[in-house]
Amino acid sequence: VAQPNVQELNASNITYTFTKEPRDVPPPGVHSIDGSTISTDHMITVAWSAKSGWGTPELKPYGPLSLMPTASVLHYATECFEGLKAYRGFDGKLRLFRPDCNAERFLMSSVRISLPSFPPAEVEKLLLALMAVDGPKWLPRDRPGSFIYLRPTLIGTQSQLGVQAPAEALLYIIATLMPVMDSPVGGMKLHTSPDDMVRAWVGGFGYAKVGANYGPSLLATQEARARGFGQILWLYGSEGYCTEAGASNFFVLWKTKEGKTQLITAPLDDRLILPGVTRRSVLQLARERLSDEIEVVERRYTIKEVLEASSEGRLLESFAAGTAFFVCPVSLIHHREQDIQIPMGKAGEGGPYTLKLKGWLKDIMYGNVDHPWGIVV
Ligand code: PMP
Repeated sequence: VAQPNVQELNASNITYTFTKEPRDVPPPGVHSIDGSTISTDHMITVAWSAKSGWGTPELKPYGPLSLMPTASVLHYATECFEGLKAYRGFDGKLRLFRPDCNAERFLMSSVRISLPSFPPAEVEKLLLALMAVDGPKWLPRDRPGSFIYLRPTLIGTQSQLGVQAPAEALLYIIATLMPVMDSPVGGMKLHTSPDDMVRAWVGGFGYAKVGANYGPSLLATQEARARGFGQILWLYGSEGYCTEAGASNFFVLWKTKEGKTQLITAPLDDRLILPGVTRRSVLQLARERLSDEIEVVERRYTIKEVLEASSEGRLLESFAAGTAFFVCPVSLIHHREQDIQIPMGKAGEGGPYTLKLKGWLKDIMYGNVDHPWGIVV
């Protein structure tokens, strides 16, 4: 990947145009109206062109974008995005969780699809600017423990057909309401990917958060959902390497044949999976706080190894980890007519290590503890 050629994106130039039609914040539990996600009152946009670089960031009323039918994004999927949450803490403060990680991944994704580069710290400032305006109203003080979902997006807008890097682009950031998805009753049920479908491949772009990774995955997900499963566990290659669970990274806790308790997840170095911020945080906390009890490994492992551990009674816990599903216990994996059952702990809400890691992260996100990963707005 080419060295990013950093253009001048300057968050401190931001202009503010406030809405004249502020909307009511819906009651807790309401996230959409007539199939449309509810967004906050404002959004931020910044236009870019190859000729003049980044324009002035504008905070303005939330509303439709205007694009020509020939816009690059609509034909060549020149689009990448991010997803992170803002949290209303139990101490009353508003926080983002590791926004620097999202901003850096945003840049990595953008460069992968020939969209412009930018200093990630400026995007982080824009996220904070949007939350400084909309956060206090949309995450009310009397709703501690609630969150809002931030979606930075970058699209190629040049209205010229032809397979080429767009010379015009638009970066925008919206803040949306989203349901809590980390505690489905009975745990998340996964279906392994169909034998004739692959989400990502070596040399591909599965490690980047580009829209082109998601559209083609919907068919398998839709079919699995119709059969009562929550997400696809994407396998790779004839060996059946476990990679990701839907839009989350995937973890297994098992006893090795030697009797060690081990937390295992797919590695980043073959670039088959998205480098999740939650994944990274889970691994860091497990290594910092649990190394006396468990071994933490990132390596390729197969669905066969999971089946074997299950049949030998060594499979202890499993969870999906990502911003949307947070740390979500997995209770079952369906693979080729076989059900792999995974213990869900005493209360049926997830295994003890799953719940411990989830609790630690929650404490940081909601300000129960002071931690450098929690960035106060
Ligand atoms: N994998 C994929 C494919 C995803 O879309 C996401 C969500 N961004 C994740 C993993 C989890 O990443 P994160 O923890 O940064 O949300």
